[in-house]
Amino acid sequence: MLENQQSLQTETKNGSVVVVGGSAAGLLTAAKVAAGGRDVRVLEAKSGLDPAPRSLIVTHHFREQLREVASSSIVNEIRRFELFTDGRSAEIALRRPDLIIERARLIPALAKEASKAGAKLSFDSHFLGLGSNSRGLRLDVETAGRREELHADHLVGADGATSRVGRSAGWPPIETVPLVQAMVRLPKDCRPDTTRVWFVPDDTPYFYWLIPENESRGALGIIGEGSGQETKKRIERFLEKKNVEPLEWQGARIPVYRKWIPVERRVGKGRVFLVGDAAAQVKVTTVGGIVTGFRGAQAVADALLGSGQNRELRALRRELDTHWLIRKTLHHFQQKDYSYLVDLLNLATRESLGEIHRDHSTELLWSVLRRQPRLVLLGLRGLLMGKGPR
Ligand SMILES: Cc1cc2nc3c(=O)[nH]c(=O)nc-3n(C[C@H](O)[C@H](O)[C@H](O)COP(=O)(O)OP(=O)(O)OC[C@H]3O[C@@H](n4cnc5c(N)ncnc54)[C@H](O)[C@@H]3O)c2cc1C
Repeated sequence: MLENQQSLQTETKNGSVVVVGGSAAGLLTAAKVAAGGRDVRVLEAKSGLDPAPRSLIVTHHFREQLREVASSSIVNEIRRFELFTDGRSAEIALRRPDLIIERARLIPALAKEASKAGAKLSFDSHFLGLGSNSRGLRLDVETAGRREELHADHLVGADGATSRVGRSAGWPPIETVPLVQAMVRLPKDCRPDTTRVWFVPDDTPYFYWLIPENESRGALGIIGEGSGQETKKRIERFLEKKNVEPLEWQGARIPVYRKWIPVERRVGKGRVFLVGDAAAQVKVTTVGGIVTGFRGAQAVADALLGSGQNRELRALRRELDTHWLIRKTLHHFQQKDYSYLVDLLNLATRESLGEIHRDHSTELLWSVLRRQPRLVLLGLRGLLMGKGPR
């Protein structure tokens, strides 16, 4: 049942779960926990289900995670990557295509799934703070301008990178980096099934990308460091150089995963969990957080329902740690290192990159290193050049 601006009940049943944040990770957690028979309420600060449009690229793992819910949000498929650096280029064909999804379609589809499973969604509902009471957790909430107290046994913070749930329950703040992307007309020489990546270490230790949304439009973006304004200036200069006009801008700060964040804390008799960006469950190589946030959601749902024996959580931790190792290596690469890297991407290596998807990064890393051992030396050089990202 979808509720808008309806007052929250001050009592909930035993074993009840409140999820703060009605976006990707929160709605999937709510759908899974409600489907397991728990009483679930989602509190979302926005006034309704009208997410800003945003094109996102995900691996095909997304389809396996969401099954039929996935299809309504998929708008394009990516079959190859083109990597550019300093006049050189390399092409990687993907055996299983990456997917371009539209967030404005994904969020309503997930909300429908959560409601169908029995979760109750409340909009214009802001989580303010947390305490304990004799039975579990006491939540301070403001709904449609009215302050209320809500009681729950378990609380899930799916409220993004600046998670108020996290801070209220004692987790330290998460470091973030700016991500800025412009929607652009697709240049004539760019195929709609090909993502372009440019390594320009003078501009960013990450990269620029151009992800086609369809035959005529794409998202050209950058992950920066420091301020969002400086990052925007850099991408504006890059667009000018490429002779591409921005049609509209999208952006936000994205968490940086540096080490595993334990996802559960006890507050009095209650259990508090974090999922998605709130727990920095973001691949720090590409700052993709959809698939990994869904894995975090599955793991927390398993914990709340007493199933899964932490398998998903352990796998997610391994995955995020491997991305952190790769990022540490790349973070101090200079132009000549990227040139060498693109040259080393011989046919065998490119096959590994295309065959194994980025959500199995440990397998991918070993396969690439086996086929091109010189990459180990290059990687070690990257690791030794600095003590990791600033
Ligand atoms: C421009 C851009 C492009 C991106 N591209 C990609 C990509 O290509 N691939 C990819 O995998 N990832 C991408 N990402 C990252 C991805 O979008 C995020 O990792 C993902 O959306 C995180 O989902 P989440 O549910 O954890 O958090 P969020 O989407 O941040 O949702 C948090 C929710 O909590 C609500 N909330 C916050 N505080 C409160 C409160 N106090 N009370 C109640 N509600 C509250 C917010 O309103 C929001 O709805 C991109 C991000 C940006 C900004």
